[in-house]
Amino acid sequence: MSIADNLERIKSELGPDVTLVAVSKYSSDQEVQEAYDAGHRDFGENKAQDVAARKENFPDDVQWHFIGHLQRNKVKYIAPFVHMIHSVDSLRLLREINKRAKNENRVIPCLLQMHIAKEESKFGLDRDELNEILADDQVKDFENVRIRGLMGMATNTENKSTVRSEFEELKELFDELKEKEHPLLEVDTLSMGMSQDYKIALECGTNMVRIGSAVFKS
Ligand SMILES: *Cc1c(COP(=O)(O)O)cnc(C)c1O
Repeated sequence: MSIADNLERIKSELGPDVTLVAVSKYSSDQEVQEAYDAGHRDFGENKAQDVAARKENFPDDVQWHFIGHLQRNKVKYIAPFVHMIHSVDSLRLLREINKRAKNENRVIPCLLQMHIAKEESKFGLDRDELNEILADDQVKDFENVRIRGLMGMATNTENKSTVRSEFEELKELFDELKEKEHPLLEVDTLSMGMSQDYKIALECGTNMVRIGSAVFKS
């Protein structure tokens, strides 16, 4: 199967309402170019300096999604061009993104990363931390970021019912967020599902999946 075949098959499974972010973090420029030539434009990367360098090798109509853990001192590398940051997991990071976006005269779309997995190691906010960010007085004045929704990663397990219950929890948080009134909220994006669990995420109501190996591995 070529990259173009993988993209076509996965897109037909997803249907028209779910955005596919092709995660290119382990792929060569040549492989990304193959996906680009097949008409794909949304790519996901997890290292700030790498994506800033890679961006130079591709046309400006590529939409670069940042999906990895982001340190505050790295925000400056991606602020000029990033299409969406999926991995906002603290108020301090959101403040830095706002500051750098302001310097660039941009508004950067962000997702809050929620901790839904049982694994300790995964990053993300819990429900209380999410509410604290929304309740913060300063956050309301962050004019150069928008909170467009939530991202989460399920536990890395063969146990489908564990994954399903984590995705259901995230969908519930997303539906609650949609009802909230807040100057930063423009909620329309739920980023959940990777190569091994996107079919479950689809059944649980995702509208954006981040898929690497199933796109780029033959
Ligand atoms: C690497 C990565 C993915 C894609 O993983 P695959 O298993 O290759 O589909 C999705 N989301 C995040 C946050 C990642 O780091």
